[in-house]
Amino acid sequence: MTLKHAKYCKDVPSGSSPNDIKQLAGTLVTPETMTVDMSNHIYCPECGFPVFRSPRLGNQQAIRQPFFSHKPDVQHECELKSKSIPIRRYNDKNEVLKDIETGSLVIIHEFSDDEIDEKSKNSSQHFVQSGNSNSRNLKLVGKGKNKEVNSFPSSMTSLKTICRHFDENLTKWFVLPEEHAPKKLVHLLVNVESIEAIDLEKSICYGRITKVERSGTRDDNVVNFHLAYERRVANKQTIADFTLRTTNIQAYRMGLNDSCVGHYLLMYGSIQERGIGLCIWDAKKSEVALLPQKYDYLLDTL
Ligand SMILES: [Zn+2]
Repeated sequence: MTLKHAKYCKDVPSGSSPNDIKQLAGTLVTPETMTVDMSNHIYCPECGFPVFRSPRLGNQQAIRQPFFSHKPDVQHECELKSKSIPIRRYNDKNEVLKDIETGSLVIIHEFSDDEIDEKSKNSSQHFVQSGNSNSRNLKLVGKGKNKEVNSFPSSMTSLKTICRHFDENLTKWFVLPEEHAPKKLVHLLVNVESIEAIDLEKSICYGRITKVERSGTRDDNVVNFHLAYERRVANKQTIADFTLRTTNIQAYRMGLNDSCVGHYLLMYGSIQERGIGLCIWDAKKSEVALLPQKYDYLLDTL
């Protein structure tokens, strides 16, 4: 587990042990409320050892949800000790195929608007395909070293499919397009509230729709779906908002309209600039999905 809080202690007497620091009052900070000047003064509230924020403040490229972590060079036991995001390790192809067949592993070669997965969803057809244009080499992590494994079948090609049984899928292992190591879906979701910079690397982002803003009524007019996002200054730049930017016709195809306000939206894409805000732009239909409201509580508490 990563740390959600760290203790900021500005004036630690020199020679203090972690045990001494544990006794100091300090101020609890979150990765969001931490400022650059605190960088060398933050400690684990549990063990008193120094921690660091990841990504480091001022890192323009980093967009992952920030967290605190113990410094890896310090060996000690702590209940809150951070572990990196778990990765499923496989030793041979059969293990991979078995997990795909039981549904505990989902490999997504690409999000596709063809919706082939919808038709073959309950058949075993997709377990035998190989070598088609969707295939790519996966590098699944084996014990100690990466292992090259040839293409594996994919059973999902759209975010809608993922959202359909969202509660079950959250704890399944997923390999997203361009990725090589299986991670749990719950660790792949990025809250747009945590995004503070553009990022070309695609990820699955989510946020609650607060407003729909159309530039006109024509099919090709731009429509912005605003997501809950607190205006802020990050890396000395103001970020006003975060939107899914698309066209009226594309929004219609995605099933998005004015009545979606209040719903959670999931989007797969890279983070781009939109004026003084951020957006996901050019998403395909398969790369966008509204979360069925019965699953809202899962994202509320993530
Ligand atoms: Zn600790």
